[in-house]
Amino acid sequence: MPEYLNIKALAKVNPAINELEDGEQLNMRHPECPAGDDGRQVLYVTQRGAKKLAFCHHCGMKGVLTGERSFIRRGGQNLLIENELHLPPDLTFKANEQPVEHIVWLHQHGITHKMQREYEIGWSNNWGRTILPVRQHKGGKLLAFQRRRVLRGDFGPKYLTTRLEHIKNPVFKARGPHLGNTLILVEDILSAIKVNEAGFYSWALLGTYMTNSVAVDIADAKFDTVVIWLDDDNLAVRRSQKVMRRKIKQVADVHVMRHQDLRIRPDDKSDPKMFTPDEIKMAIASKLA
Ligand SMILES: [Zn+2]
Repeated sequence: MPEYLNIKALAKVNPAINELEDGEQLNMRHPECPAGDDGRQVLYVTQRGAKKLAFCHHCGMKGVLTGERSFIRRGGQNLLIENELHLPPDLTFKANEQPVEHIVWLHQHGITHKMQREYEIGWSNNWGRTILPVRQHKGGKLLAFQRRRVLRGDFGPKYLTTRLEHIKNPVFKARGPHLGNTLILVEDILSAIKVNEAGFYSWALLGTYMTNSVAVDIADAKFDTVVIWLDDDNLAVRRSQKVMRRKIKQVADVHVMRHQDLRIRPDDKSDPKMFTPDEIKMAIASKLA
């Protein structure tokens, strides 16, 4: 038995290894394992920056693969993968059971009690985080949920995401009244809700990376115009916007909302959750004019 796991060879068995993003982990089996084919996913493959790390919890074999990282999940994200998904059982929507940081964070971004109820945005004491569910647009099946850091003493990643095993790139699709055939693509759930309040279709990518399957979804939904509106503040995001634009161009007219379109100070954050629905409406109208 080789002493080290060959991650390149493992990626031939499970190509999802090649698509891991920073902070993501996937669980699988490895062929050489003495655990055999008992069905347990004992080998953990984790992306840490440009490195892929593998560790088998059965036989203790390890592997490292250094390589070029193509996309960055911002703000520190982490991903867990589950076969079955449930919202935390202690999820609460009652203000008197929620810490003030949670309440302030939601109100700062104009997320009303009505929106919190509608999207099941609540507080979990067990996690010590704000819970943001991602449900299937039709049918309401739970695809993923995010746990957002809000407490002052929490130094963990900004977002922790748990998703269903086969939903590789869960997308949050906001509900409600919508104008025209324009889709606004954003990074985060609160931004999608805000853009939706302004009357537009909005999907949150839960990051700045867009898979090809999202482009297929856009084509299927017959959007004719797409506006990419991310927090346009650094080089990695601009590179990501370019890739997204190229993918979407095949299926729809595409525009990118830039920092300078928004008449804000250079170091102000530019994602939609920072704006009121009226400001969002105006920004999109002038972008498309
Ligand atoms: Zn093993």
